[in-house]
Amino acid sequence: MALDDLKNIKHEIPWQSPVEPVELRADSEFQFNCHKGVSCFNACCKNIDITLLPYDIVRLKRRAGLTSSQWVNRYTLPYPMDAHDMPGLKMATKPGANECVFLTESGCGVYTDRPSACRYYALGCMGVRRAARAEETAAGAAPAVEEIYFMVKESHCKGHYEPRSLTVSQYRQEQGLEKYDDMNREWRDIILKKRSSGPTVGKPSARSLQLFDMCSYDLDNFRKFITGDGFAEVFDLPPAERRALLADEDQLLLFAFRFLKQVLFGELSLALKPNARAARLAKKLARAAKDTPEPMA
Ligand code: SF4
Ligand code: SF4
Repeated sequence: MALDDLKNIKHEIPWQSPVEPVELRADSEFQFNCHKGVSCFNACCKNIDITLLPYDIVRLKRRAGLTSSQWVNRYTLPYPMDAHDMPGLKMATKPGANECVFLTESGCGVYTDRPSACRYYALGCMGVRRAARAEETAAGAAPAVEEIYFMVKESHCKGHYEPRSLTVSQYRQEQGLEKYDDMNREWRDIILKKRSSGPTVGKPSARSLQLFDMCSYDLDNFRKFITGDGFAEVFDLPPAERRALLADEDQLLLFAFRFLKQVLFGELSLALKPNARAARLAKKLARAAKDTPEPMA
């Protein structure tokens, strides 16, 4: 990857940080260690700009015993992810400071459920779509998304001078990132797809943006949504599958991304009820007729 490419992705990096212009692969080695004994302990948590991913929110709201919307209202700040106002969320800071709301005297107050960006630091990760291989093009398949890594080197972070080298894979394992990446991968793919489709595709409708917001950040509402009549009218979800989804939040989140891909990009991975479209149209017309005032005699 060229230096310019890495500079261009700086806005995707959840920390306001200088990015080393070197692409790292899973087996690349780098020197880094972070522990309570470093002189800069907690310095990074005192000046944050953390973009939250859907699975971060599921873990943190579960830990807090709150619903997704309660947690989001209390601990996040909304921001537009692109020119079409795709909704994004940043971690909130303490009043009058740029310090993470979860930072305590003894370190991170939510350590075992800390967000993906905190786990990655001082690495960054992004998905890129490489050019399709000839066999993929022939089969009509979309090019695969590759994850690439890079180093974020800030002058205050002394972890880079600690005498420990390890590979990116080892670091991801140590930080519990495999589960986080598995859970967020499909969502990242949605963002990438949206971006790579370019401005010609146009702004998603207000309804699509609402659905994106719910599927990304409000799993408790999505749970209610898939048990509602509107969903049942359109989608043919077998009862056993529905019960399994309602019993397992992680699976529910992955299902929400499948649903989102269908809504945003027309990827038909969820079965539709026969005549679902006609039934919805009839209902819409009936509603419109009801709302139309009787003509004056
Ligand atoms: S969540 Fe924890 S690790 Fe992440 S910035 Fe806040 S205090 Fe630091
Ligand atoms: S070594 Fe780096 S990541 Fe660790 S506490 Fe210090 S600034 Fe933060």
